[in-house]
Amino acid sequence: MGLLARYARLLPLTAATPAVNLEEGNTPLIPLPRVGERLGVELWGKFEGCNPSGSFKDRGMVLAVAKALEEGARALICASTGNTSASAAAYAAAAGVPCFVLLPAGKVALGKLAQALMYGAAVVAVKGNFDKALELARQAAETLGCAMVNSVNPYRLWGQRTGAWEICESLGEAPDWHAIPVGNAGNISAYWAGYREYLQLGRASKTPRMMGFQAAGAAPLVTNEPCPSPETVATAIRIGNPVSARLARAAVSESGGEFNSVTDEEILAAQRLLAAKGGVFAEPASCAPLAGLLKLKEAGRLPQGIKVVMVLTGSGLKDPDTAMSQVGRPVEAGDSLESLLTVLKPVSQ
Ligand SMILES: *Cc1c(COP(=O)(O)O)cnc(C)c1O
Repeated sequence: MGLLARYARLLPLTAATPAVNLEEGNTPLIPLPRVGERLGVELWGKFEGCNPSGSFKDRGMVLAVAKALEEGARALICASTGNTSASAAAYAAAAGVPCFVLLPAGKVALGKLAQALMYGAAVVAVKGNFDKALELARQAAETLGCAMVNSVNPYRLWGQRTGAWEICESLGEAPDWHAIPVGNAGNISAYWAGYREYLQLGRASKTPRMMGFQAAGAAPLVTNEPCPSPETVATAIRIGNPVSARLARAAVSESGGEFNSVTDEEILAAQRLLAAKGGVFAEPASCAPLAGLLKLKEAGRLPQGIKVVMVLTGSGLKDPDTAMSQVGRPVEAGDSLESLLTVLKPVSQ
């Protein structure tokens, strides 16, 4: 069952809302004991890479597209660091409406670009960063009369609350800490709204501290000023002027949380650790929280024994280039057992 059916009573649906569905949501909350041991906490990863387009963006997109269709939209438009475009293009394809996608030229991970093109979107590479592409998409949406499905669209954030609801249902309670990467700052705001709602509904008895993590080269919420030329290997959070900054600041201060930044080297080390000790391959942006938790642990600022959920926002398969740049090539062997054993022996010893 997709999210619109599963959470029909908590989402703003009407009798006229089309039943858009790619079986999104209901992603696994994966226990990560070997990584958690290192941190001294009970660690869980909400693996959003299991969504149909491979990132959490599907949670909000399903609702945004359904509402756009309900309101008579005949085409969709978005600016994207990659995953929003993959998601918008997927739902547009399933619904049979055209989709225009504006990407920052040369700064989108290969898998995401392949997705948008395969789903049949009209993909435009804009000379400029994401913030510029977003501004242009807004203007084009108005001129062309397309529905804008970026997270400025309020239905996106509403749909993304479902992630918090699922975590509370899986754990039977809200976690102590919620650790999440922050780019345009919509997801942290949506999770906070979702946790508060479950508290009000009596489906959880507390709310977590919201811990937001940014890349050091794109950390406007840490430095408290817009970042004119954001730069990071974690392209999904390469954003200098977050649209939902105000909501995100409120989420952090109301929950007693923090924003912290981590370097690209720390992000990539965390990505390797998560894969090699957790068995979960997540894209670089998704690993900023783990990098940050390791840093807090080192600084003696991570309370021991608490329950921590990290949102692993997208699949590692999205960005094969960054992964391959960090690991060796396969060892080569001939086609005989003898040749194979000369290669395997040093490994098995
Ligand atoms: C979009 C995205 C983010 C950032 O989420 P915001 O809501 O923009 O803060 C983080 N990780 C991945 C993989 C994303 O696609």
